[in-house]
Amino acid sequence: MSSLSKLAALTSTNKPTERMPVLFLGHGSPLNGIEENEFVQGFRTQGKQLNRPAAIVVVSAHWETKGTRVTAMKSPRTIHDFGGFPRELYEVRYPAPGNPALAKEISRLVKPEHTVLPDDKWGLDHGSWTVVKHLYPDADVPVIQLSLDYSLSPRQHYALARQLKSLRDKGVLIIGSGNLVHNLDMVEWRRLNEPYAYDWAIEANEKIKGYVLDGDHDSLINFNKQGKAFDLAIPTPEHYLPVLYSLALKDTNEEVMLFNDQPLGGSLSMTSLKIG
Ligand code: ZN
Repeated sequence: MSSLSKLAALTSTNKPTERMPVLFLGHGSPLNGIEENEFVQGFRTQGKQLNRPAAIVVVSAHWETKGTRVTAMKSPRTIHDFGGFPRELYEVRYPAPGNPALAKEISRLVKPEHTVLPDDKWGLDHGSWTVVKHLYPDADVPVIQLSLDYSLSPRQHYALARQLKSLRDKGVLIIGSGNLVHNLDMVEWRRLNEPYAYDWAIEANEKIKGYVLDGDHDSLINFNKQGKAFDLAIPTPEHYLPVLYSLALKDTNEEVMLFNDQPLGGSLSMTSLKIG
């Protein structure tokens, strides 16, 4: 099918598509791309419960740019954007097609308040493929990525994401991929495989979950005014911001379900959300 007819299928009013939920996935270590553990089982369970989407849009912590970009190539490459891992991990390819028409549609939807430019150089980074491969192991659903513009405020990220809400009704699965608590400098590497957390990591994760479940998005947008535990949990914003994209797409009456809700190595949490 050509890109244009794919978009026609995507936006067709003849065949109503079911509204897709939205996910936030705690992606954790790149090793989740090859390891078998409870987290990848959690992703797999979600994949089995979801209707098959027409396409997937991932907002990954690992693609920060000046100005927002959307991948617009037909066949995105698998990016191994990490160092020091086993060779097996570098050999993984996730050959899902892209969807240039959807990339164009995103650029159109965010106007006139925002600008999203097409990109033909990126691909699927590990924030994307190490989790999406567990949802759709056959790599037969088109995947595109939307970048994080590092010059935007948290509120601007939230507002931009909100413009994409109508895609949910067109069978598009939107995924924020990061980690709610992510402080690599303080990870206790010897305990990386243990469900262990510092007090501040538990405090921040519990508060974030509380705000999420209460629908208090303002407090989540203002994460950098929430005190010491938040400052330690979110020393840099890139792993946290994807959750604002997921939450911005939520309707007020929609349920949020938590899964993979576990800390790791002291200063990480794998907590993931399904909205709707
Ligand atoms: Zn990451």
